[in-house]
Amino acid sequence: MDEWATLGVEGHWQGRPDWFRYDELVASRLTGVVGGSRSEVAVGGTLTANLHVLLASFYRPTRHRRMVLAERTSFPSDRYALVSQIEWHDLDPRDTLVEIEPGPTQSTTDAVCAAVESLGDELALVWLGGVNYLTGELLDMEAITAAAHSVGSIVGFDLAHAAGNVPLSLHDWGVDLAAWCSYKYLCSGPGSVAGWFVHERHLGTIEPTFAGWWGNEPATRFDMDQERDFVPRPTADGWKSSNPPILSLAAVDGASSLFEEVGMAALRAKSERLTALLVELLDERTGLEVLTPRQPDRRGNQISVVVPGRAAAVQSELAARGVVIDDRPPDVLRLAPSPLYTTYEEVWRAVEELRRVLTA
Ligand SMILES: *Cc1c(COP(=O)(O)O)cnc(C)c1O
Repeated sequence: MDEWATLGVEGHWQGRPDWFRYDELVASRLTGVVGGSRSEVAVGGTLTANLHVLLASFYRPTRHRRMVLAERTSFPSDRYALVSQIEWHDLDPRDTLVEIEPGPTQSTTDAVCAAVESLGDELALVWLGGVNYLTGELLDMEAITAAAHSVGSIVGFDLAHAAGNVPLSLHDWGVDLAAWCSYKYLCSGPGSVAGWFVHERHLGTIEPTFAGWWGNEPATRFDMDQERDFVPRPTADGWKSSNPPILSLAAVDGASSLFEEVGMAALRAKSERLTALLVELLDERTGLEVLTPRQPDRRGNQISVVVPGRAAAVQSELAARGVVIDDRPPDVLRLAPSPLYTTYEEVWRAVEELRRVLTA
């Protein structure tokens, strides 16, 4: 904050670290969170806008291969983005976008893999939430990636609810692209700078469709020569276009350095214990239906429960009692103990308050 107050534009060079390449430092801190190399991970912009920029490069429908596969319960912003991308290519979403809805006993992963197989070589893009925002279900991204690639499709994941929540190995799984925000598990405040991943195999092959100076080589970024062509960096940074907001980046830096220090393996170990305790207490004390898969390897930190018609009322009662959870009206409550800062006692207290509200 002192540098912000005193350096002004000079912060580009005199900030510590210098603001000119601050986004690259933050991106390097996030490589362990998403399982990508430094050249595959970039930081900038916001999630939905980044999704459009990436899809402009990665969703290139042809007459035959044009279909997009998503979930019925995808986050509304992702659905809007997919529909508008399809329309932008003069296609009709009604016969281009397939939204799968798994049966009651079927995992989303199995439903997706079956749909991928039946769409075959008409499938152009699979776009799914790595962890579903509503149910908290964690997909088997490696299996889905393999299935999509077996029919020649591009596959990407929205990691808004997965980054900082579950261990990710995007590079090793072979995922083509991914995007996330930094203000859910990554704790950086609403609207904070987001990030994305582009697999190494596409770098230098698939080019950014929309160019801007921050995607250019830093050495020539400030050259104002009108004759010069845009030379995208041959890394995920090539998809950047603007100067990032430094104050917001400082928040992402602070949060991501904690994730870097603690590591996803330790966070995952505590997460499994926290959610096991949460589910056990919910069963024992509330009897509520748990929407999230009960197998630990099919969920992250989020446990969703069903309170028919009462989600908003229960949420506000709990908030008044100091328990911060989230409601998805009319029926769903989301409880997400974060291993970085939620204690076991707080999990116990949350369920105890929930029990009191339900029986009041
Ligand atoms: C939170 C969230 C968003 C919101 O993205 P912004 O563009 O940063 O507002 C988009 N998609 C998913 C899946 C989300 O959870």
